Amino acid sequence: MSVAKDKLFIDGAWIDSQEKKTIEIKSPIDGAKLGSAQIATSEDVNKAVEAASSAADKWGRTHFVERAEIMHKAADIFEKRFEELVNLLIMEQGKPKADAQIESQGCVNYFRDAAEDIKRLQTDMLPSIDPKKRVYTIRQPYGVFGVITPWNFPFDIPCFIIAPVLASGNTLVFKPAEQTPLCGAKIVECLEKAGFPKGVVNLVQGPGEITGEAMSANGEINAIAFTGSIETGRRIAERAGKTIKHLLLELGGNGPVIVLDDADLELATEAIALSCYMNAGQVCNAGERILVTKQMNDRLTKSLLQKTAQIKLGDPRLPETTMGPLIDETVASKIDSHIKDAVEKGAKLTVGGKRATGFPTKLYFEPTILNDVSPDMLISREETFGPVCPLIECENIEEAAQIANQTDYGLMSSVFTKDLAKGIKLAELIKTGTVAINTPSNYWEGRLPWGGMRKSGLGRQGGIQSIISMTQLKTIILDLG
Ligand code: ADP
Repeated sequence: MSVAKDKLFIDGAWIDSQEKKTIEIKSPIDGAKLGSAQIATSEDVNKAVEAASSAADKWGRTHFVERAEIMHKAADIFEKRFEELVNLLIMEQGKPKADAQIESQGCVNYFRDAAEDIKRLQTDMLPSIDPKKRVYTIRQPYGVFGVITPWNFPFDIPCFIIAPVLASGNTLVFKPAEQTPLCGAKIVECLEKAGFPKGVVNLVQGPGEITGEAMSANGEINAIAFTGSIETGRRIAERAGKTIKHLLLELGGNGPVIVLDDADLELATEAIALSCYMNAGQVCNAGERILVTKQMNDRLTKSLLQKTAQIKLGDPRLPETTMGPLIDETVASKIDSHIKDAVEKGAKLTVGGKRATGFPTKLYFEPTILNDVSPDMLISREETFGPVCPLIECENIEEAAQIANQTDYGLMSSVFTKDLAKGIKLAELIKTGTVAINTPSNYWEGRLPWGGMRKSGLGRQGGIQSIISMTQLKTIILDLG
């Protein structure tokens, strides 16, 4: 029995792809086959875009109250199928049940929020230099929106984007990550039942090099929202540039977490453990670099060691498990290579650092603490995306800010200090789209403005900000005669 539809959803129907080639999905938990997804060729993508394009004008003109009703119906369906969502998410992505429940609830919340946000959109009436003129602005959808998403939050990230895309009156061509196509198909199964008109929601599946590239090259897609790596974001932007697409890019982070001398040790420890180990570290706003002052380093290391010992790595279906397996071998070997590079360059492996034994797959990675990490190591410069807590010692606030700003990334950071003036000073110095003070770097509220500085992305999303970013401004000038 299939856990989710394996076909493409185009123009209101589940159809076979042109070539019927498939991606087989195995659970990271035990390697058992879970299901499959048919790969969309560029012809299939064209078909999906044509359907979305034909539906765009009517959906864009549908009154927002009517659109909001359908959005709420979608939320009701996600709510009804909650257990099914949670179970699939655990099996396909490998996160523990408690985390899978929070993520699945996100599907409900994003659709309800977007349904209400669209009702609160404000535009301006502007003074004109001509006394006979009246000028005002409205916001209108872009038309066809391509949405390309990663595997680490296969419900949360797509719904965070898709809900405002649809509420804003755009039509959708959605490509989930090839590692988690079943969760992507499940979202669309729920949307199918909500009553979106034919062609408004379309699903294509497949690898980035085939299906994703076909999307970014397609001239009828007016905008793309993408979450993933800098490298892929760059490729999408290059292709999208040729057809002048509007872009929203979230390209990951290298979250600096700064712990000053006067930090609340317990608070900082809890927050760092959460931001380094949640979802086995496969989070774009994870704590990827812990910058700690000399005076605090030993105490923080000891405290983190105790906290790390409490992490229960195991089968994510078991209630006691707090950390599950990694998604696949590509991710696991990148973590291996970052740790190897760090140790070769002088870092000290305090705990963990390797695959755990005694599990059905090699994807269970021990929670890891590395000390004496320096900014030149791969682990400091790139996104490691694993359950690793690398500590970098620094002298003072100025050095902390300088190291924090040394990478290409600029998504999220956090600062721990009891001195709010210092916290604010750092918050203003660090070049990340969000800075959390005395709060974990992976604190998440989907309604807050979200996006990266520097190479971590383009544009802002979250709540009303998504609606603004997913609509375009039109100026209307009226002459009173
Ligand atoms: P990650 O490293 O998290 O897997 P990627 O950026 O490789 O991040 O992938 C995120 C999403 O981007 C996935 O849906 C993937 O299929 C898609 N993707 C990868 N390469 C391309 C590409 N060249 N063009 C468009 N989409 C792509």
